Parts: sequence; C-alpha cells; structure tokens
Amino acid sequence: AKIKQVEFVKSSGRAKDCPKNALPEIAMMGRSNVGKSSLINSLVRKKDVAMTSKTPGKTQLINHFLINKSWYIVDLPGYGYANAPDSARTDWSTFTKGYFLNRDTIVTVLLLIDASVPPQKMDLDCANWLGRNNIPLTFVFTKCDKKKSGKSGVKRPEENIKEFQDLISKKYREPPPWIMTSSVTNLGRDDLLLHLSQLRNY
Ligand code: GDP
Repeated sequence: AKIKQVEFVKSSGRAKDCPKNALPEIAMMGRSNVGKSSLINSLVRKKDVAMTSKTPGKTQLINHFLINKSWYIVDLPGYGYANAPDSARTDWSTFTKGYFLNRDTIVTVLLLIDASVPPQKMDLDCANWLGRNNIPLTFVFTKCDKKKSGKSGVKRPEENIKEFQDLISKKYREPPPWIMTSSVTNLGRDDLLLHLSQLRNY
C-alpha cells in the first residue's frame, strides 16, 4: 500500500484532455480549504507535491499524479470558495461532472469533509449527486485532530461526523465507507492507503 514514487503528469481543463492510459484513478475533491493539499502531501509523504495544484491558473484544473507508475491520484478543483463572490465560485457542476461521467477508470472518489464544521449543504449535495450517478464514493473526514473551541455552538469533530453520517444514511441503502484523518497527526493515513489498495485490488 506504500507510496514509493510520485510524479506529476499533467493538468487538464476538460475530461477529454486527461491521460489516455487506462490506469486506475483515485479522485479527490472537496470544498476549498477542506485540507485536500495537506492530505495529498501527507499521503505521499512529501511537502508541496500538491503545490502544483495550487499555483495560480491550476486550481481550476484536473491534476493527475502518477503513483508507483501504476495508479493515479487525481486532484480535482475545490468548490465553494468561502470568500469569493457568487460569480467566482467554482461551479463543479460543469467540467468536474464531465470528468466523473466520462472516466470509467475511477476506482473511488474521495469526498473530503471538514470534520471541524457541522454538515455543509454543498458537501451533502455533492455526495448525493455522486450517489445518484453511481460513482463510487469514500468519505474522508479531514482535520479530525481539531478540538472543540471555546465558542458556544462549536462542536467536536466526532459530533459533526455523526450528524453528517445520520444525514447520509437517510439517502443510501448502504452508506459509503468513511475514514477519519488528520494531516497534522497523520491519523487515518495508513487506513486510507490500505482502503485504496484493497479497492484497486493489488
Ligand atoms: P485545500 O484548499 O483543500 O487544499 O486545503 P489546505 O490543505 O491548503 O488546508 C487549508 C487549511 O487547513 C490550512 O490552513 C491547513 O493548515 C489547515 N489544515 C489542513 N489539514 C489539516 C488538519 O488535518 N488538521 C488541522 N488542524 N488543520 C488542517
């Protein structure tokens, strides 16, 4: 399950520009600031691998990283920029949906959910859309190291996760697998890599 080698392959603006070879791919998506870059860096044990995806002009592209020359981590554009005006918000409904519907090499989509905040409508909408379209999904809760803050109304990760799962279980006969992670403590890192290797079947 170990990641020994990682190689940035390309940034694509459309699904049809993605790499042509049919290697299995693990796609990662979530709201901007969810901790996607940090998680990628923690998975591959390198700093700044995911920087490529953060350089101006590339945040809105599909970024392919080749792992151990045998499978891809695909970094998808973040959605729902908190401080952007509506017009500048990522509409993940356009080309990201095209990617999901046109890549039959997707092994699972890792939908990153920030465990330090209560369930967000955008995340639930995203999960439900993937479910409706039969795209295999794994929930990855991020920032699980965060403690309850002093402010009233702020909940602990465990409570937010429970609420999220309750909402999801109403929609799915068999809810997708989920993994708790932290890029600060590396919680869940090995579980996630094991889960991915089991899904890839090698
Ligand atoms: P991205 O926009 O989804 O790529 O998110 P980043 O990886 O850039 O992280 C956004 C912010 O959340 C940064 O300030 C990170 O330091 C912080 N962050 C990311 N992962 C974790 C985590 O596991 N725990 C904590 N406490 N903070 C995190």
